[in-house]
Amino acid sequence: MGLHISLPFGHSHAAKAHANTPPDGTPPRMIVEFLDQDGKAVGGRMRPLVPQPLHAEVPSGDAGMDWHKTDPHLTVAPKSVPAGAVAVRARSGDTVVAQLPLAAAASAKPAPPVDKATFNPAGKWTLLLLSELFTDKARFFGFAGALDKYIRSQAPFSHNPDSGVRIEALFWPSPAGGLFNTSQNGRLVYGDTGVVNAFVAKSGAKGRLTIVLVDLPRRGGAGGGQGRPAWVTITSEPTETWQAVALHELGHSFGLADEYTNSEQPTPEPHPLEPNVTDRSDPAQAPWAALCTPGHPGKPTCAAATRPPAPLGVVGTFEGARYTETGRYRPTAECLMQRTDRPFCPVCQAAIAKALAAA
Ligand SMILES: [Zn+2]
Ligand SMILES: [Zn+2]
Repeated sequence: MGLHISLPFGHSHAAKAHANTPPDGTPPRMIVEFLDQDGKAVGGRMRPLVPQPLHAEVPSGDAGMDWHKTDPHLTVAPKSVPAGAVAVRARSGDTVVAQLPLAAAASAKPAPPVDKATFNPAGKWTLLLLSELFTDKARFFGFAGALDKYIRSQAPFSHNPDSGVRIEALFWPSPAGGLFNTSQNGRLVYGDTGVVNAFVAKSGAKGRLTIVLVDLPRRGGAGGGQGRPAWVTITSEPTETWQAVALHELGHSFGLADEYTNSEQPTPEPHPLEPNVTDRSDPAQAPWAALCTPGHPGKPTCAAATRPPAPLGVVGTFEGARYTETGRYRPTAECLMQRTDRPFCPVCQAAIAKALAAA
């Protein structure tokens, strides 16, 4: 029986287990076991690693982004399910941290896609687009085509005859409830990363970024990270499109930082900083000094401004970026890496063009 078990795992339990990692760095493990109808453990136990606690970027209302603590999934592929098993649970010592009926925890066995379509086969930057909650492949490929068309219309991709981005759209028809255990909690929409990665591995496809495209009638999703897909719903709002949310996530695959502020986001900073963030308040000292707008306003290059707005396209050093209110500067008042109803700023465009040229 090709069963995979996927248990949502409380983020506070995950954080606690990882906080108690011993000095030698041994990663924490859980006990996963099957239960019979009397609640007694049957069959063998598994000892999988505790999943990493996750924070995810979530599209909010009004074109912004929030950060949510999310429950990671514990994914295991048991060799067999013992006779009489009706439920599965995970525990840490005697503390039960997750328990579900077997039918609710079971997910489909990873398999190659039923069909696929490629947009811009010559593009060097591959985006893998996976279907979730779609049952009709023509409908899914229609949305993939709409994303391709949107990317072609946006700078700097519009400067390339083929946009530079290759979209590989992989279709699996979803069973009721979804193929990747996708759930929705307000605007947070995400599922089991382990299951997604297992399906991608079966497809043989490789990309810079994986986006799970979810057929849900509400704007939402969850940002990706190292080895983690992003999730985007197909629903737009009056002032912005779902494609812009996908393009923001694609921006991260080019190494761009978020340009908004949010004190809830704990990610440590890389050194050096991303190409669209600086700790220099003087525009002349910014990595993008050559792109700064001359004489804005009344300074040799361009002014630092604590608060926007400044006209779109004015490049300088605007305080507030990379989740931090002070001491970090972004290149323009507003950019797609800050708001999903704006285009990429000139500095982000240049960084993307440089990465595409080097790909
Ligand atoms: Zn982001
Ligand atoms: Zn930007």
